[in-house]
Amino acid sequence: MPETELTALCADRATAKLLAIVSVEHADRVRCGQPTCGHSVYRRIHVVRENGKLLVLGSTCFAKRYGADTALGSARFGAGEGRPLTQEERQMLVTKTEALLERFEVEASAPNLTAAVKAMPTSLPSSPVSALYRAAASKPHQETPWAWVKPWSSVIFLKLKDGSGWMRAQRRDDKHLLVPWPVFDGWDEALPPLFGPVDSECGGHVLPDVVAALKYLRNHAEWETRPGRWSDVLAEIASRNRAAGPAE
Ligand SMILES: [Zn+2]
Repeated sequence: MPETELTALCADRATAKLLAIVSVEHADRVRCGQPTCGHSVYRRIHVVRENGKLLVLGSTCFAKRYGADTALGSARFGAGEGRPLTQEERQMLVTKTEALLERFEVEASAPNLTAAVKAMPTSLPSSPVSALYRAAASKPHQETPWAWVKPWSSVIFLKLKDGSGWMRAQRRDDKHLLVPWPVFDGWDEALPPLFGPVDSECGGHVLPDVVAALKYLRNHAEWETRPGRWSDVLAEIASRNRAAGPAE
């Protein structure tokens, strides 16, 4: 069977999503994931999720597998030659592709949506927490219960094996915070120092390194939601909790 037919058979175009286009140094090139290929690639490396699996493909094999360069539209992250990866990210591409995509997701949750930001009030009430909550409650379009959250940013929730739950959200100054959800006694001493200082006004840790923090949480997590809008994340938590049975 000619190679083109074989690869077409393997592709599941209906579920395929082009997640990222990345590039690495020539010296750091990676193996193309197309089963029949075996070449090394370093420019326009395509990361695709197909049928629940991640594929790292050279641009030629991508075009062969799906029919054309443009068959899956534009990538969620990266374009053209591809987003250049650091050494660390190159390693993640090979060994921890999911974690790399999560990093892109975190980066993308701080987009430069200038127009949207301009439409928001330029200053926050510098008053106590209760005033922030009132401000949030008085705005029906406010996505989260916290007025400090950056507009259009995504959140993610992780449920740990110890029963605690944590929400990662982004503040207007682009810092990532980790907030107990729901709040419990002693939350501010429940996590190791890598989670950074507590911001008492926001009621959470200000994360010095969001990737390291998420890695720690994942090692201790029972489950996590997909990163997304506040309402979607809450809906996912609710359905997980329903599936786990009624609370005592
Ligand atoms: Zn290839």
